[in-house]
Amino acid sequence: MFEWTWHLEWQTPQEFHAHAIKRILIEERSEFQRVILAELFRFGKALIIDGKIQSTLADEFIYHESLVHPLLISLEDPENILILGGGEGATLREALRYKSVRKVTMVDIDPVVIKFAKQNLQEWHMGSFDDSRTNLIIGDGYKFVKETNEKYNAIILDLTDPIQDSPSQLLYTSEFYRDLKSIITPNGGLVTQATSPSFSLDTFAIIYSTLKTVFKNVSAGITYVPSFDGLWGFIYASDVTNPAHLNRNQINDRIKERVTGSLRFYDGETHEMLFRVPKYIREKIENE
Ligand code: SAM
Repeated sequence: MFEWTWHLEWQTPQEFHAHAIKRILIEERSEFQRVILAELFRFGKALIIDGKIQSTLADEFIYHESLVHPLLISLEDPENILILGGGEGATLREALRYKSVRKVTMVDIDPVVIKFAKQNLQEWHMGSFDDSRTNLIIGDGYKFVKETNEKYNAIILDLTDPIQDSPSQLLYTSEFYRDLKSIITPNGGLVTQATSPSFSLDTFAIIYSTLKTVFKNVSAGITYVPSFDGLWGFIYASDVTNPAHLNRNQINDRIKERVTGSLRFYDGETHEMLFRVPKYIREKIENE
């Protein structure tokens, strides 16, 4: 057992989870971050950026379906979608499932991650980078939002965690959320990945309360992601809709009408589970 190489995932400075590595497939230092593609014994291929697992082959669908569908299903026929980050192409894959979608612009800062994904993460993106509705831009999402003239029905923030000096840090601020609001159509909304309520409850609560200063309806969703070894959080925000208010029958009907292909994680029952947030987390985010 000890002859294996281990990926140590530091959840807090005092705690790590160790994943045994079968082999390192690629390792590269980009201008922005250290990017590794490894094969883990338990979860198969894994994209690891700056020491943090971004997603693994075995359970990426849990994270990506939870991020994308509660927002998009809550909107009336979203046509124009913006994704910031999302390197693997799996968020893109899920957004393109909507029959109403005409264009998805994905802006990721790191050409190395995109090159990795295109060449090695076929199971994640399933050819989404080549979909005629995809508009892939390599660039800083922060700058892109300041400069775009377009309006979007939905914005999906699939960024690395807001760690100091990371390229994503500024994309979790109230100033940036106000910029996003100015490019969202009046009937639209956004979602952001919001770190782990298990390991960084303070950060999760701060993202929630920061969004509340900008949008009328803000709701928190959580689910367990095995390769992250803890709960993962998502915050959905809009001035008009609130996915948390939809029930399982409405979700199942909308999936049937609006979504192509079959989902592995998300349906009406899972939707209700996502928004069943335990009391201590609710109290924490409401009192932040
Ligand atoms: N699932 C992930 C997690 O748990 O943190 C997020 C996945 S995705 C790989 C994160 C992406 O955000 C990376 O590809 C990274 O290059 C991108 N990113 C970070 N900062 C960015 C910025 N300022 N603009 C655009 N993309 C950014």
